[in-house]
Amino acid sequence: METDFLVVGSGIAGLSFALRVAELGRVVVVTKKERMDSSTNLAQGGIAAVLAEDDSGTEHERDTLESGAGLCDRDVVRMVVRDGPPRIADLIAAGVKFVTDEKTGKLDLGKEGGHSRRRVAHSYDLTGREIERALLAAVKEHPQISVLENHPAIDLIMDRKAKDRGRCVGAYVFEESGKVVSYLAKMTVLCTGGCGKVYLYTSNPDIATGDGIAMAFRAGAQVANMEFVQFHPTCLFHPRAKNFLISEAVRGEGAVLVDRYGKRFMDKYDSRGELATRDSVARAIDREMKASGLDCVYLDITSKSNEFLYKRFPTIYEKCRKFGITISRDPIPVVPAAHYMCGGVVVDMYGNSSVDGLMALGETANTGLHGANRLASNSLLEAVVYAEKAWRYCRDHKKEVLGRETPQVDDWSSGEAIDLEEEILINHNWDLIRRTMWNYVGIVRSDKRLKLAKERMSDILKEIEQHYRDYYVSANMIELRNISLVAMMIIEAALQRQESRGLHYTKDYPVVKQEFQRWNIFARRWGKQLWDMDCIKQKRI
Ligand SMILES: Cc1cc2nc3c(=O)[nH]c(=O)nc-3n(C[C@H](O)[C@H](O)[C@H](O)COP(=O)(O)OP(=O)(O)OC[C@H]3O[C@@H](n4cnc5c(N)ncnc54)[C@H](O)[C@@H]3O)c2cc1C
Repeated sequence: METDFLVVGSGIAGLSFALRVAELGRVVVVTKKERMDSSTNLAQGGIAAVLAEDDSGTEHERDTLESGAGLCDRDVVRMVVRDGPPRIADLIAAGVKFVTDEKTGKLDLGKEGGHSRRRVAHSYDLTGREIERALLAAVKEHPQISVLENHPAIDLIMDRKAKDRGRCVGAYVFEESGKVVSYLAKMTVLCTGGCGKVYLYTSNPDIATGDGIAMAFRAGAQVANMEFVQFHPTCLFHPRAKNFLISEAVRGEGAVLVDRYGKRFMDKYDSRGELATRDSVARAIDREMKASGLDCVYLDITSKSNEFLYKRFPTIYEKCRKFGITISRDPIPVVPAAHYMCGGVVVDMYGNSSVDGLMALGETANTGLHGANRLASNSLLEAVVYAEKAWRYCRDHKKEVLGRETPQVDDWSSGEAIDLEEEILINHNWDLIRRTMWNYVGIVRSDKRLKLAKERMSDILKEIEQHYRDYYVSANMIELRNISLVAMMIIEAALQRQESRGLHYTKDYPVVKQEFQRWNIFARRWGKQLWDMDCIKQKRI
């Protein structure tokens, strides 16, 4: 299979880029499951930009920088904030229906934690679904774009003869028939989203296994800021409820967090109580759970009437009711959950990674916008802004990008591999990784637990790499291999940050240290084991 642009992923980043770049050449979008399966599709709150008359770029920049706790790249923040309003206009032109004020016809703007102004364009609590719907409809109409569902990319194909350890020339893709096919492209663009599935509890969909970050790392790309994992404080805790968020708005309406005896605990940790910032509430819940040894705490909104709750939170009300929880009567069992990866593949202002022929966009990328903590609703914004910048780069360098020769590459070889007869070998490790990450590398960290996690993860990685060689690949194994590597990146990055900043909190170094106002950049060490990774350079911010 040969194409001009190979886009891996069909969320907001992949689709926005595909729609633009299709004017330059043929685009193939491969996506792991069905085309809607993405974090984009679950995004609730909305997309931030300076859209109100009483708002300004300076204020949006300031809010973003404050949230980022000293690790944002100021130039990137300025560029993303500046490009926000025209990109929202592009989304509207592409068919996205944001909610508008009935009288004025202007966008109805929401205000979220950390924003000093109303600046979040939304489609009620289904913003992501509306964006995904509109972009997929536009892509469907486009004769230059093909979207291939159930086509997970396994690894990048590298032309190792090219200079500087090689150029990316496409990806090996696992087709539905079970065959692995080489997809060759002039430019390969990773838009595979985040990696919430590394943790036992996550708000992310099943596709979020950090595939793009792992593939890029294996190919030699630089990766940074992986220690900054954002946890959402309240995800529904129920054996059958997967990744369902109980929105902050419930606390906004007076819900209190209680332990199993119905006793409030937030005041012990933060004078703002239940309305403290996400990271602070998540940390308090984590401490309560670790101290009691229990699996969850409870969010109690029983002070409100049944009528009020049904009207104000229809989706939450119904979802909980399905699991036998009447929220006007029963406290809701909740746990914090991994929500967003601030770090990722290091890219420049146009989405180029450190590997020639390889770009990364959206949650997979580390652009410098989020620093040590993402400001709410800035991630959808980052994805659309960078999709446009990446297209601009390809357009301005069209001759060079499209003029690249496609080299001869080796077909995928399974070597001596045999069928895996015991799926338990894979499933056991899934569970082990996610539990280890949750218990040892979660919201509150310590050197002791991080070191233990590193030891265990090295053994797991060794075993998985062996399985990968011994058995035919499967979709399950591809993901397991990726989450184990991404887990190791998070552990290493956390070990190297001996301070507490933004989303990274460690008991052993509980304060911010000036000397750590830097990104630790990781890359694989050629000739060593993959998991034997190290920080190759630091970027002072
Ligand atoms: C519940 C929830 C609510 C959120 N609310 C908001 C919000 O209100 N505002 C905001 O700004 N952000 C929000 N976020 C974050 C935001 O939704 C994501 O950061 C953003 O949508 C990421 O977009 P993306 O295109 O990078 O990745 P995604 O939308 O996750 O898309 C990734 C795509 O890559 C595909 N893929 C993955 N691996 C492979 C592979 N190996 N081969 C082929 N395809 C692959 C997936 O199938 C998918 O199509 C929320 C996230 C969640 C989970």
